[in-house]
Amino acid sequence: MEITGTLQRQAWLDKVIPPVECVAEGLWSVPVVFPRNPMRYTLSYIILDGDDCLVVDPGFDSPQGRLDLQAGLRTAGVGFRNVTGILATHFHTDHLGMAGWLRDESGAWVALGRAEKRYISAFEDPGDESAADRARMRTWGVPEDRIREAAMSVGGLMHLKHLADADLRVGDGDTVPVAGRRLTVVETPGHTPGHICLRDDSREVFISGDHVLPRISPNVSLEIRGDADPLRSCLESLDRLEADTHFEVLPAHEYRFRGLPDRVRHLKSLALERSEEVVQELNAQVDPTVWTIAAKLSWSRGFESLGNLQLRLALSETAAHLQYLRTSGFDHGIEGLPAVSRTGASTAG
Ligand SMILES: [Zn+2]
Repeated sequence: MEITGTLQRQAWLDKVIPPVECVAEGLWSVPVVFPRNPMRYTLSYIILDGDDCLVVDPGFDSPQGRLDLQAGLRTAGVGFRNVTGILATHFHTDHLGMAGWLRDESGAWVALGRAEKRYISAFEDPGDESAADRARMRTWGVPEDRIREAAMSVGGLMHLKHLADADLRVGDGDTVPVAGRRLTVVETPGHTPGHICLRDDSREVFISGDHVLPRISPNVSLEIRGDADPLRSCLESLDRLEADTHFEVLPAHEYRFRGLPDRVRHLKSLALERSEEVVQELNAQVDPTVWTIAAKLSWSRGFESLGNLQLRLALSETAAHLQYLRTSGFDHGIEGLPAVSRTGASTAG
């Protein structure tokens, strides 16, 4: 792997925000602050097409984030009136968050992956959704006094519900209707059910969202209304990127790099090693649950230190591995995992 975003990498090490950069002809990288989050910023991309432009992953909506994005547009020589399209690689707040505001300012359409819609519409009844999530946490063996912090709260769900819904859905092989239709959509479910990447053959760049990052593995979680086997989807999505060998990778966080196949191989081996760790725990425990397995896995700061969202992510990541093992033929009998039909569709919650 060769780090091409050397200024971005230095900024990452220095814990500061990297500069706005022109990374290819008519393609700008704009860091947008992600407040109170260790990722620190989202890399938005502005892609010019004559007088028009597309904004990919506008970033988290905050007063400073809006200023960051406006500064990026100015540096690229455009303004709100030029923005005709907004595309988010997935619905998370650090990607889609500012899309609603930017749409209001510019009149641009908002595009999301085809499979992302279902997930957003799941938040229409947050009370029921939150209750179902608490019930699932109990089935996972989460102790009663930890359920409140691990389960999705109504407040959290309402926050997600306010994200912009899409005017346009895009799927595998579609071209994005700006930038001379040179951007091709690659569906990469895993991190979210409808995550998409963009391939730009003319510039030889690959916009990877959170699917492939240079330093960390994206979180892959088993969620109630999400993919019934997200780790399998993620691994299959990684397999599909082999062809884009020499393209520069433009991720949504950290820094850009070259060497996609190496990174893909490494991410796959990390995921499979983690599954192997889960297998060892399954074999060692008498009456395992998602909770007891998660508690014994290695976590960078230790399981005991995990709370709130980090605890939730740890549990749902463990559940994703348990589900992957089960659909691979390991009959471990852990409860609280969705039934999966032969086609991979969820048949029960
Ligand atoms: Zn992200």
